[in-house]
Amino acid sequence: MTRSILLGPPGSGKGTQAQRLANLYQIPHISTGDLLREAVANETELGKKAKEYMDSGNLVPDETILGMVRDRLDQPDAKAGWILDGFPRSVSQAEFLDKLLQEISQELDIAINLDVPDDIVVSRMLGRGRADDNEETIRRRLEVYREQTAPTIDYYSDRDKLVSVDGDRDVDEVTAALQAAIAS
Ligand code: ADP
Repeated sequence: MTRSILLGPPGSGKGTQAQRLANLYQIPHISTGDLLREAVANETELGKKAKEYMDSGNLVPDETILGMVRDRLDQPDAKAGWILDGFPRSVSQAEFLDKLLQEISQELDIAINLDVPDDIVVSRMLGRGRADDNEETIRRRLEVYREQTAPTIDYYSDRDKLVSVDGDRDVDEVTAALQAAIAS
């Protein structure tokens, strides 16, 4: 069982790797991006609020995200552990998660930073063709990543929870390195 966070820039392969780890450990892969895209597709109130932020590459405001994460971590299947992908995406979200985990008596095992150079993430995103994968939005998402998300790396490093893994390798090699990090 593990409770792990995958950090890393957009396009770093977090989603693919988180899904593989979730299958290996038989625990839920909790992706705030996937939860938001599902809400947008189902045209829920939450989805309607989130859409414009996602389309422009900006962060969806905390008031929309935090309750969504709380509800998901509260589900029975999350008792067995989880892999968080795309959350936390800012220091304020990391602080929220700490408080939430304390409330529900769970402890984070590890935050793994999936390290991939900028030019690689841009070419990967341009190749996958998701609705928000156009050049302008990609540029904005990288900016948001540097300004708001990268500081969470220090947040977890200061708390001795951080491990970095080189994500610029063959998919299977990255999965093996992530498993080793979780086992350490
Ligand atoms: P990527 O895999 O490219 O990082 P995601 O699927 O994680 O993309 O997220 C897509 C979009 O959803 C983000 O650009 C953002 O608008 C929104 N989003 C996802 N997670 C969060 C979050 N934790 N806080 C705020 N916005 C989020």
